[in-house]
Amino acid sequence: MSNVTSLATPETFFGIYEELSKYNVHLNIFERLWASWYAYMQNDVLATGIMSFVMHEVVYFGRSLPWIIIDRIPFFRRYKIQGSKIPTIAEQWQCTKLVLLSHFTVELPQIWLFHPMAKFFGMDTGVPFPPLAKMAMHIAIFFVLEDTWHYWVHRLMHWAPLYKSVHKIHHQYSAPFGLAAEYASPIEVMVLGAGTVLMPIAWTIVTGDLHILTMYLWITLRLFQAIDSHSGYEFPWSLHHFLPFWAGAEHHDVHHEQFIGNYASSFRWWDYVMDTESGPEAAKARRERKALKAQKAAQKAAKKTA
Ligand SMILES: [Zn+2]
Ligand SMILES: [Zn+2]
Repeated sequence: MSNVTSLATPETFFGIYEELSKYNVHLNIFERLWASWYAYMQNDVLATGIMSFVMHEVVYFGRSLPWIIIDRIPFFRRYKIQGSKIPTIAEQWQCTKLVLLSHFTVELPQIWLFHPMAKFFGMDTGVPFPPLAKMAMHIAIFFVLEDTWHYWVHRLMHWAPLYKSVHKIHHQYSAPFGLAAEYASPIEVMVLGAGTVLMPIAWTIVTGDLHILTMYLWITLRLFQAIDSHSGYEFPWSLHHFLPFWAGAEHHDVHHEQFIGNYASSFRWWDYVMDTESGPEAAKARRERKALKAQKAAQKAAKKTA
């Protein structure tokens, strides 16, 4: 740990915290808790592994819970994108079981490998933490990079052989719900999830400047994005009304309903530029664009012959 005055072998977590606080007055409470955790564990790989796994479970199920509750409240039906398709408790439980199985079998070993990998590529795990503005900038960059990865890999997953062998599982629910965000084949979890983990690693390799806390905040926000975009609800206060390039549930719900188009995760620009927007409105706009193009070409040809 950098910039932390070392201390004698501690006994309890709060004992360490007290001791560490005496000598590290320059650190804020979160930095002290963070440093105490690593000092208490005496094993950085285990310390990062446990913290990452617990964080992932708490955020995933914690963020899904409000959507499970909303599904049971009739008032919210008016905001449900695919009207009557409310998931039953049995469906949600079935989904939870597969998600948990994949968390313990596929994600746990990867999470354990994360600390050595992060260290190897020079990610910072110490205190003090980086300034908020810097963390925000890094997270914004990761959103853009992950969205690009997601668009192309997800689009590839819709190529028939890959769709049948890998991606079909995720499409089991044509009307998605929050918990279904990570309902997918283990291969898909690894390949699509790589965008979330490998982009920050690539950033660290290139710039040598990333703190693991920024990584945690990024993963938390990315989980929020993934769960909310599967929620199945479109509100007048949904984020894309204020940020028109934000994808949100309205964008991804159509993907599940139509099985085609709207491949990006966080933003709308890739589908717009590559002309893969889904749904009847997008199809209408596409027809109009084509008609306009044909009309212009005909006018040009007419001018030439005149
Ligand atoms: Zn898909
Ligand atoms: Zn989905």
